[in-house]
Amino acid sequence: MTYYALGLIGHPVKHSLSPVIHNAALDALAIAGEYRLFDVPEPPNDEPRMTALIDSLRAGIITGLNVTIPHKQVVLSYLDKLTLAAQSIGAVNTIYRIGDRLVGDNTDAPGFLKPLDSYTPHLKDDRTALIIGAGGAARAVAYALNKQGWKLTISARRLQQAQGLTNSLVKLQRDDESNSKSRQDSDDRHTIRIVALENIQRVMEWTKVDLVVNTTPIGMTPHEDANPWPDGCDLPPGAIIYDLVYNPAETALLRAAKAAGMEYINGLDMLIEQAALAFECWTGLDAPRDAMRKAASEQLQR
Ligand code: NAP
Repeated sequence: MTYYALGLIGHPVKHSLSPVIHNAALDALAIAGEYRLFDVPEPPNDEPRMTALIDSLRAGIITGLNVTIPHKQVVLSYLDKLTLAAQSIGAVNTIYRIGDRLVGDNTDAPGFLKPLDSYTPHLKDDRTALIIGAGGAARAVAYALNKQGWKLTISARRLQQAQGLTNSLVKLQRDDESNSKSRQDSDDRHTIRIVALENIQRVMEWTKVDLVVNTTPIGMTPHEDANPWPDGCDLPPGAIIYDLVYNPAETALLRAAKAAGMEYINGLDMLIEQAALAFECWTGLDAPRDAMRKAASEQLQR
């Protein structure tokens, strides 16, 4: 009988919900295995522990791994192959083995899109999104939306970080263009703008905004009253407000959206979907999403 030895590499990892989510999935499917936490020191002190874990994965002692901060980029150099998403985002959150090769994937991008799908069927063309933050999660979000043809504005407190993300996206667009059939297609490609976080409300002066995504940790427990949106400014009328934070379930940003009668999404469904996709990579089985969500929700309420 196959035993699924799964786990998460990160630092710190002790507050992660991933063991609860994945162990619930193993239980629901009545398959043998365990999901464990592997605290790997921050780079540059990560190497011995990282090498040992990667060797265990290569040898089949570990079946599959998730990767989180601060190792999502460092781990690239240990792997034999990257999926297109991982390569484009420049970060890996899931590792699995095919034969003797280790493959790095990034399930954050499809995990982010899945909950959004049901809110956006009316938005077909000329869709514009405002992404707050330019870190690891923002890279996955920007890649996912860019692929779907959204026009993007990236708002960060460090313009250099936003510029770095924009440069990566422009490079991806150029690579796509060089494969596209006509110049007309590429001319229609979306622009990417940058705005300093303190000037975020100015975005509405130059464009409509259909979607606002908070990819920063602002508003996360225990800072429930912190809001990335400036005090006293209206949210973009009619926009969907999507906060990647899942604890608390309603951040100050989402409470403001609710009070304004706007549609909003928290980060829990993304968390479950990116976990479910990773679980499917490792096991080849349909992930029991309801059991995974129930376990995560119960843990968050404790
Ligand atoms: P990260 O790589 O550290 O990036 C965080 C970003 O937020 C950076 O741009 C950072 O700017 C900015 N930021 C942090 N504190 C800020 C503040 N007080 N004011 C303005 N900007 C601030 O982290 P990450 O991996 O992207 O994760 C970010 C958040 O997304 C976390 O809350 C995480 O839990 C959540 N997340 C959720 C899911 C999900 O499945 N729901 C998945 C991934 C991430 P600096 O670089 O200047 O600090």
